[in-house]
Amino acid sequence: MVTFSQSDIDALGARAEAMVKSLGTISAEPDRLVRLFLTPEHRRAADRVADWMREVGLEISEDALGTVRGRYRAAGEDAGQNTAKRLLIGSHIDTVIDAGMYDGPFGVIAGILAVEHFAKGGRRLPFGIDVLAFGDEEGSRFPATLASSSACAGIFKPENLQLADRNGVTLADAITAYGKSPADISAAAYAREEAAAYVEVHIEQGPVLETRNQPLGVVTAIIGQTYLNIEFLGEAGHAGTVPMLLRRDALAGAAEAMLLGETLARDTKGEVVATVGRIAVAPGATNVIPANVVVIFDIRSGSEAGRARLVDALKSGVRAIADKRHLGLTITSTREVATTPCHPAVQDGFASAIGALGAEPLRLGSGAGHDGQAMARLCPIGMLFVRCRGGISHNPMEYTSPRDLGVAVAALIGFIERFDPGTLG
Ligand SMILES: [Zn+2]
Repeated sequence: MVTFSQSDIDALGARAEAMVKSLGTISAEPDRLVRLFLTPEHRRAADRVADWMREVGLEISEDALGTVRGRYRAAGEDAGQNTAKRLLIGSHIDTVIDAGMYDGPFGVIAGILAVEHFAKGGRRLPFGIDVLAFGDEEGSRFPATLASSSACAGIFKPENLQLADRNGVTLADAITAYGKSPADISAAAYAREEAAAYVEVHIEQGPVLETRNQPLGVVTAIIGQTYLNIEFLGEAGHAGTVPMLLRRDALAGAAEAMLLGETLARDTKGEVVATVGRIAVAPGATNVIPANVVVIFDIRSGSEAGRARLVDALKSGVRAIADKRHLGLTITSTREVATTPCHPAVQDGFASAIGALGAEPLRLGSGAGHDGQAMARLCPIGMLFVRCRGGISHNPMEYTSPRDLGVAVAALIGFIERFDPGTLG
């Protein structure tokens, strides 16, 4: 097992930060970071990543959705051969609109720097490594997400080719404009026996690690999610003439529902979180009693049972509120994503690599979605989280210190050294 001095870690961190900043300059707009799937910016970022991969000795290929793969052959595997099991290490190089620089790119960079550690010493491992740079994690261009990792996992939905972006360009047309062919998407899929595991290093995008004063965390699961679309139907009326007791105010009902959701989630003591980030009020005039209000609850938990319990309690509570206030009610679930557990052996591998660096291997759930949700359909997955300042993400203020970046790369190297496909069952 390699040991890292503080200056080794600082050197890794400085390189990682320089690479993050380099990708951060590739944007569709001069004043903010915007890098969408299958755009000229995606092309430029993919080319830069491929150059880095080549420099550290990886063999490059690119699939029909523009995912860049850098392959590090296993011991005894000849060039162009594909005989060994592979550890897949990936993340995404697309961004949200007005993004930070770390969300996604750092995971790809960590993979490249970790493989460089082995390549530099000419050390081949009993398994191959593929570093993957996906282009569609954020879903900022098309009304679907994880196209790239779904293709690698062999679960790409061909009907998504007809989805159009804001300008009416379909995914199929965008793939062609990128110089690829939709007909080749199926060739992007890994065979099950080929993929030993998928791991991803990612900034936490939340405040837990910072609060606990730890640079790294082991992800236990990518948490499941329900969107509940709740519509209250009341009656519009004059804000001056209709007496309070005769009103059917849809917004007052929605407000009660929102507070109920907050109370129910708080009562789970951290197991479930529930948010309303958007409401629509009609007719939406100062002097008119609201007749129609839609609130969308975003409910997430690492526990399938916990999320189901909260959804049930919220639905029955909302029905009672609507009855009491004589409001019409429709409840629709518009999104159901199951929890994706991280494999216990992968978690333990990250935990022991973190422990070897003298940090505490804290375990936590991921409240955000990730490519691992698609890759889990192919093979066992795991994630390593890195502390980010203030838990801020999807924001140009996003920041992780170079020292934490360095520790994360060192932990990934330690994970690879301990990795044994045989323990994954
Ligand atoms: Zn991300």
